[in-house]
Amino acid sequence: MTAAVEVRDVTFAYGGRPVVEDVSLTVEAGEFLGLVGPNGSGKTTLLELVIGLRRPDSGSVALFGDPAADRAHGERVGYVPQDVGEAADEMPITVEEVVRMGRYPHRYFGRFRDEDRTAIADALDRVGIADIADRRIGRLSGGQRQRAFIARALAAEADLLALDEPTVGVDAESREAFYDLLHELNDEGMTIVLIEHDIGVVTTHATEIACLNRELFFHGDPEAFVETDALAEAYGNAQHVLAHDH
Ligand code: ADP
Repeated sequence: MTAAVEVRDVTFAYGGRPVVEDVSLTVEAGEFLGLVGPNGSGKTTLLELVIGLRRPDSGSVALFGDPAADRAHGERVGYVPQDVGEAADEMPITVEEVVRMGRYPHRYFGRFRDEDRTAIADALDRVGIADIADRRIGRLSGGQRQRAFIARALAAEADLLALDEPTVGVDAESREAFYDLLHELNDEGMTIVLIEHDIGVVTTHATEIACLNRELFFHGDPEAFVETDALAEAYGNAQHVLAHDH
């Protein structure tokens, strides 16, 4: 079976300073990968490389067997960026319009059919935001906004959902509800790649963990991860680097 994500020997630098170095990582379809690592360890950059928003300086990234930067992936990948709030504040559009955009690739000669309207309504319903479909996206709480972006991915019938610290600033109860939703989607076959700073939370929910600090320190089962030294090594390394910066 073709892997959902195939990262091979990837290196990426900002202005000559590598922030992702020689990373290889395969995520099979149907997995739920939790990506962890200290602040500034390259997690967001790696996620952007995975979904084709950035191209590696060397190495390759494939999504479902094709180059990640291939535009044909379009809405096959749903992305919930970390700064969705800032971007959304500028958008004078409603929740429903955001979700409708996800459905564009499915239109028939540029028109929505009944099945598209049903898919949009179902997606809104599924993530529990049907009642706020007419609200402007910039007026929502962070949690609601993230649900809107997930609904967009559902309307698109995306196969991969990439989320960058989606529950930062979200209260514990809403966070549990949010993870319940991710579990449901994952059980139905959606591949998930998620950055999460809370190790306890992510090792509870993900089916596999990747621990990054520029290089990949660990990739495997959550149970194995908590028993290895990878965490201390990856985070210890960060302190080491910080100490040398000053
Ligand atoms: P993380 O998500 O683990 O916090 P990032 O991938 O956001 O890590 O960042 C890794 C490193 O790259 C950090 O040192 C950060 O300051 C730097 N960085 C991130 N984005 C940019 C950018 N657009 N230009 C230059 N440096 C960047």
